Amino acid sequence: MEEQTLAREVGTPSQTAHCEVEGCEIAASARFGARPVCIEHFLNSAVRELDDRATRLKIQPLDADELQSWKEFIAECTSQAQRLSQDDHSFDKRTRTRLLDLVLRASHLSQSLRRSPRLQAAHPIWLRREDPGRSWEEETWTSTVSENGAGLVCRHLVEPGSTLVLCRKGPGDRARARVVYCRYDGDGRRQIGVEFIDQNDFWELSQKARSAKPAPGA
Ligand SMILES: [Zn+2]
Repeated sequence: MEEQTLAREVGTPSQTAHCEVEGCEIAASARFGARPVCIEHFLNSAVRELDDRATRLKIQPLDADELQSWKEFIAECTSQAQRLSQDDHSFDKRTRTRLLDLVLRASHLSQSLRRSPRLQAAHPIWLRREDPGRSWEEETWTSTVSENGAGLVCRHLVEPGSTLVLCRKGPGDRARARVVYCRYDGDGRRQIGVEFIDQNDFWELSQKARSAKPAPGA
């Protein structure tokens, strides 16, 4: 069922379809998003998007919906690249190499998703700023956590690049972290993302990740 849907969405566009990138007259042989595109534009767009996501994954926690949509994107890139390299023997060596490279990048991003699981988890914490003259402390909770950091609600104004201290209620552990983004959620609360500076596995996730079996095809 799922395979049929995927095959229809990523299948070869009709022979008359042309690449929809402006100024490109080449016949479409793939799709990127909903657009029919030529193989050159497919490769360019897919590689750029995979690289962007790999960079973003290092600093920003994903919620469950994003995780699912990223997995679908990776599966679609892989499936199209594999189909193109198997079905069409008219591509030159360079294009074949790029298709293989795309599959490897997609696989690498998929592994990164597994290595750094982003979990929606509400851990109560104390959040502190300890800069001289600008110190404050507030009680808050996390929205998402990963081995490298967390997304959390913060009532104080902070700038990306600032250093904060997180203290876990209960275990009492503390860790220094750098603010990597600051934005507002749908309820008008300030959500910040932090990356740990000197602490690994603050949330004790790696033990849980090792005992959890990866989802099939993930
Ligand atoms: Zn094109």
